[in-house]
Amino acid sequence: MFDYLQYLSVLFLILFGMIIHKYEDKYPLEKFKRLKTFKFDMISIMISTLFVLFILDFLLNENIISFINNTFSLGESISEWPSYMCLIMALIVGDFGYYLTHRFLHLRQMWNTHQFHHSTINIYWFSGLRTSFINSLLIRIPYLIGLQMFEISYEIVSAAGIFLLVINFWIHSNLNLKYDKLLSYIFITPNFHRLHHVNDEQVAGCNFGNIFSVWDHIFGTALISDDWKKSPKGEYISWKKFPRRIIGF
Ligand SMILES: [Zn+2]
Ligand SMILES: [Zn+2]
Repeated sequence: MFDYLQYLSVLFLILFGMIIHKYEDKYPLEKFKRLKTFKFDMISIMISTLFVLFILDFLLNENIISFINNTFSLGESISEWPSYMCLIMALIVGDFGYYLTHRFLHLRQMWNTHQFHHSTINIYWFSGLRTSFINSLLIRIPYLIGLQMFEISYEIVSAAGIFLLVINFWIHSNLNLKYDKLLSYIFITPNFHRLHHVNDEQVAGCNFGNIFSVWDHIFGTALISDDWKKSPKGEYISWKKFPRRIIGF
């Protein structure tokens, strides 16, 4: 089931996580004890990963992928393009789709789907994987469309999956970076995404992007500020509500 490249990817992810973990200890944006929520995070992330591995692969099967490919592929018109160009364009298109999907998930009618991600009180590199199953499914679709649109091969699609996990670790990391503000004019940075998690009416509805912050800047949802660093984030979820929240309905 797992080939050596997949083992290498998992190893790379663990290593990347450990490096961020170390830097979070040294240069934190917020001071808190990760261990306090670690048990809940581990359990919920393990369950949602199992969902993703077994059910998502079944739902997004070959038939669905070839349907997406037939519908969105640019085919001949990009056949001369170098593969790196196709990949960059696929990520840009996918990321724009992610931005729109994320805004859609913040509508009142969709909130139950996304609430689980916003239940994180202590935001650190690993905690961003806390997403409901329906949320995981929906946010994959725009990237899938982008990758199929530009005819990205299966091997690269797997690598893109790993890349998106790295992005998830990065944007949720609890790191106080010197160039955070500057970078956040183009990319999503730890402080930029942290503002998206703040519980305050004044900052609600900002910073929806995943890789690029340009969508937020273009559509007027960007907020770059140092003022909310210590504001409370997340919402406690009881074990009773856990099954509904993790599925996302
Ligand atoms: Zn959100
Ligand atoms: Zn988040």
